[in-house]
Amino acid sequence: MYPSVAGAIGNTPLVDLPKISELAGGRIIAKLEYLNPGGSKKDRVARQIIEDAEREGVLQPGRTVVEVTSGNTGTGLAIVCATKGYPFVAIMSQGNSVERTRMMSALGAEVIIVPQCTGSIHGQVSGADLALLEEECARIVRERNAFRANQFYSTSNFRAHYLHTGREILADASCTLDVFCDFVGTGGTFAGCAAAFKEADPLTRCYIAEPENAPALSGGCITDSRHRIQGGGYAIRELPMIRREQVDGFIQVNDADAIEWSRKLARLEGIFAGFSAGANLTAAARLLGSDFHGKTCVVIIPDSGLKYMSTDLW
Ligand code: PMP
Repeated sequence: MYPSVAGAIGNTPLVDLPKISELAGGRIIAKLEYLNPGGSKKDRVARQIIEDAEREGVLQPGRTVVEVTSGNTGTGLAIVCATKGYPFVAIMSQGNSVERTRMMSALGAEVIIVPQCTGSIHGQVSGADLALLEEECARIVRERNAFRANQFYSTSNFRAHYLHTGREILADASCTLDVFCDFVGTGGTFAGCAAAFKEADPLTRCYIAEPENAPALSGGCITDSRHRIQGGGYAIRELPMIRREQVDGFIQVNDADAIEWSRKLARLEGIFAGFSAGANLTAAARLLGSDFHGKTCVVIIPDSGLKYMSTDLW
């Protein structure tokens, strides 16, 4: 029994995906992060940011918390802030799905929706859209003396996955982890898990998945930064959290493959997840279909398919 629902964050199950594995040509094991209370892995980051800030004395009782979010971090923060009594303001792009807005509002958050740039498409949040969100967030910090959770820069984001997600996987996996791949947003999941895995076994190979038309982290040409894989792929060239020596390679994924693998995951394995789960499986299948044939690949299932009922994923 936990003192609050925040205690129920983490310790998610690690499961085999036998049918998906057969299609991919190796073994894929998956950490079911959609089973967190807010329906995503970002609950962990939210709790870590708030608890670290409390410990460091930068977050005093009653201070407003603010964050730019595609919805998942915001939902996590809304949950943690509700349990601890902090007012929470979420700055979101109009381009993200409506379920997330409603869920955050239901959890007591004030949600500010920022219109997209001209030329941006609903469901596809671009780097330029993100810049608008930053401006709005800076205004709230200024006007309300708010604490900015700052997931792109906070070491708590890394720590959430290094201390918990990665180590939980290591504790639960009864096999060698040959390879890990992850579709990157802030890079917190990749960086934290890669650090934990490589510490346990330096031979574990870690790959970043990024959008085919915006392979920014691998230094490729950005032909179109719009894509449908919500939660990441922001076409940012450098992410503060990512340590280059922990990146063994990059895999480019496209919307159609990500969608197809998300649908297969639901149909074949009974796991109802979002776009980025499909992106992770696309990358895993690519790796197991080539250099890592017959090996074991671990992936994160970042969030729930329920967050995308208003999209054509389903
Ligand atoms: N998928 C989803 C659904 C997400 O919400 C996020 C985080 N915004 C990511 C992937 C990327 O995770 P990270 O920020 O840890 O790189």
